[in-house]
Amino acid sequence: METKNLKDWKNELNICIRCAYCFEGCPIFKITGWETDSARGKIILAYGILTGDLEPSQYIADKMFQCTYCRDCSERCSANVSVVDVLAAARADLVNAGYASDIHKGMAKNVKETGNIFGDKEITAPVQQGEIPVFIGCQYLARPNQTKMYIRILEKLGVKPLIKAEACCGYPLYALGFRDELEEHKKKFLETFPEEEIIALCPTCAAFLHEGYGKKAKHITQAILEHLPEKNLGLKATYHDPCDLSRVMGITEEPREILKKLGIEIVEMPRNRKTSHCCGGGGGILMSDVNLSDDIAILRIKQAIETGAPLLITPCPTCEQVLKKAAATVREKSEGNITVKNLSDVVWKALRS
Ligand code: SF4
Ligand code: SF4
Repeated sequence: METKNLKDWKNELNICIRCAYCFEGCPIFKITGWETDSARGKIILAYGILTGDLEPSQYIADKMFQCTYCRDCSERCSANVSVVDVLAAARADLVNAGYASDIHKGMAKNVKETGNIFGDKEITAPVQQGEIPVFIGCQYLARPNQTKMYIRILEKLGVKPLIKAEACCGYPLYALGFRDELEEHKKKFLETFPEEEIIALCPTCAAFLHEGYGKKAKHITQAILEHLPEKNLGLKATYHDPCDLSRVMGITEEPREILKKLGIEIVEMPRNRKTSHCCGGGGGILMSDVNLSDDIAILRIKQAIETGAPLLITPCPTCEQVLKKAAATVREKSEGNITVKNLSDVVWKALRS
């Protein structure tokens, strides 16, 4: 995750050969059908801003912020364009030009004032002494029961988690273009977490600790798999790969190994691992365009229902949240039924007995 400005990506903008392979899996393009919503369209808009042929405008800002940062485009791109890095740079330039939305500005203020994206002063980490630093992240901190479950899982597996009074990793500031705020925040973050090796509960935090700070961040699924004994839950489920875990960190097999060790039969969706379909919750659209996010999540949950599995499991709190909502919508319309669970639920179910 590069923190450059658009001018530093000039070569990258030129290597896009306009092949349109990126249309195929883009969740935004799939819903809206407009070329300007695909990676190619956004790259062309970014090039226009760079050359001065296009003036920054609300229209361009709306397009640039309509991206889940799922990186499906980069995975398919024939020219290896770092689309998300280019879009993040374009967003940063647009924020500097005064095109940050009020909702995104509010989030940046929340991180600065409360240390979490929700602006909730009541959200605190369950500080405890231990040996391995564990970073919980805003999304899990706002779900104290799940956080507790993951901590108990680690303890049951013989890992001693060190929990500190943490603040957001800073990824939302990066994703939404608040570069000055990010640099300031990173200094504070590193005062709390100077360690090289950290276990992160959330896939996006793990990816940002790795790419944004150069740390040897492990995702909790890797730590669990190292110590997990075999169990037999006798369940059948499909697994949803969070984009930051599969496409950014390359972690696709560890969660599946966990499920197999627990005696869960996995029924794969056709789009899995590095070609997994985005859940619709990333890149800030959950805050700024919830209807678009909902539509994408419904596409994904229908793919899960088509497998015939009664259960969808994912280790990402954001994927879990949006897919649960989509499952409820689809159920209400009698268009199918599936239960969505966090990976922690099934691991804990197996270990607590
Ligand atoms: S990162 Fe995902 S949502 Fe954004 S342009 Fe690429 S495929 Fe589309
Ligand atoms: S796949 Fe890559 S090279 Fe092809 S149009 Fe999309 S961004 Fe450009």
